[in-house]
Amino acid sequence: MIGISETQGPDMKPTPEHHEMSRGLQRFIDDEINPHILTWADNPPFPAHEVFKKLAGLGYLGVDKPEAYGGLGLDFSYAAVFLEALGQIHCAGVATAIAVQTQMATPALAKFGSDELCREFLAPTISGDRVAAIAVSEPGAGSDVSAIRTTARKDGDDYIINGSKTWITNGAQADWLCLLVNTGDGPVHRNKSLICVPTDTPGFSVGRVLRKIGMHASDTAELYFEDVRVPQRYRIGAEGQGFTYQMDQFQEERMYLAFYALGQVHASIAETVEYTAQRKIFGSTVWEQQAVQYRLAELQTETEALRALIWKTVDQYVEGHDMTMLASMCKLKATRLMRETYDTCMQFWGGMGYMEETNVARRFRDSRAASIGGGADEVMLSIIAKRMRGATDLAARP
Ligand SMILES: Cc1cc2nc3c(=O)[nH]c(=O)nc-3n(C[C@H](O)[C@H](O)[C@H](O)COP(=O)(O)OP(=O)(O)OC[C@H]3O[C@@H](n4cnc5c(N)ncnc54)[C@H](O)[C@@H]3O)c2cc1C
Repeated sequence: MIGISETQGPDMKPTPEHHEMSRGLQRFIDDEINPHILTWADNPPFPAHEVFKKLAGLGYLGVDKPEAYGGLGLDFSYAAVFLEALGQIHCAGVATAIAVQTQMATPALAKFGSDELCREFLAPTISGDRVAAIAVSEPGAGSDVSAIRTTARKDGDDYIINGSKTWITNGAQADWLCLLVNTGDGPVHRNKSLICVPTDTPGFSVGRVLRKIGMHASDTAELYFEDVRVPQRYRIGAEGQGFTYQMDQFQEERMYLAFYALGQVHASIAETVEYTAQRKIFGSTVWEQQAVQYRLAELQTETEALRALIWKTVDQYVEGHDMTMLASMCKLKATRLMRETYDTCMQFWGGMGYMEETNVARRFRDSRAASIGGGADEVMLSIIAKRMRGATDLAARP
């Protein structure tokens, strides 16, 4: 059972429109996504083009994107309701692939891209005609984004791109990439640019589609660039600002992860209460053991505390404030709570929790990546610590 949080931030009250969006997405997830999760996980990847086109038909791929490019033009509180609803998808691989399209590969394009670029890349992404990926990580640079080696060298009006990326979600299905590259030799925080790269450009290739311990329905791939030529007008915003744009773009990715955790932790606890209440042991039920009740009550309390933190962060973002520190806290807390909750829930489900067919087992496997991707827990801690000392400069933004 979902619904949007009634306990949103102090200033933010859900409107009928928020509720309507939440209910519509719930129906879509119940009808078009969750019934197919097991099939998609067994036969990956899930059909991104098909699912995205259907989502786009309901307006969900551009909730907070400008109307000029087919978006709904709503503020981030509506995107937040959309992200909270994604938390009802019982497979992190599918939810994450959708969030790549809406909150990871496109925020910088929508904010800083030229009108021409938005028409060429953002509009067909919002309409579900093109699948997007965000390509930042490389074999030698994950947490330390500034250390990427892929280059884009100027040649006439073009860039020529060489290098590689890895662990890229949607990588094998994507029609275009929001690609972070070095466009100069200057200081590492000021020599990078974000470039839109169509994947049918000669010289681009997909390497291995990587096998993961969880998130089986999504494709996660290695990408190669060998003299890939794209026009310089495909660059998002100003040259040399790519690192800064990407750090901003990461904030929405972190909020997605927090919202996804909120939804799935809530569902996991509810399913565990229900299961343990009917599972007989020693003449009573698992639920009737006080140790079980207290543990689940504690996790429920943590979930509500997380909800309050998340909506406080949304409030601040909607009001135009920087959310870097709070978004880092949300992601850190959410991903740790997921790991703790799913481990506990699996324990209380006993052998049944270890079976592939249960949501409990899938969540246990899927969730582990969340403390690593989008900035590892330690990266979140270091952002929070640096901001506790008042630092907001580029070097303080890992
Ligand atoms: C399923 C999945 C999907 C992904 N999708 C994408 C994608 O779509 N696009 C993309 O660009 N990337 C993607 N990634 C890559 C992801 O962003 C990186 O894995 C992540 O940033 C961590 O980088 P790394 O793996 O190189 O770890 P490393 O940078 O090698 O770090 C290893 C570990 O060191 C520790 N560490 C890091 N920094 C510090 C610190 N300051 N202090 C102490 N310890 C620290 C952390 O525990 C970290 O896990 C994905 C990864 C996974 C697993």
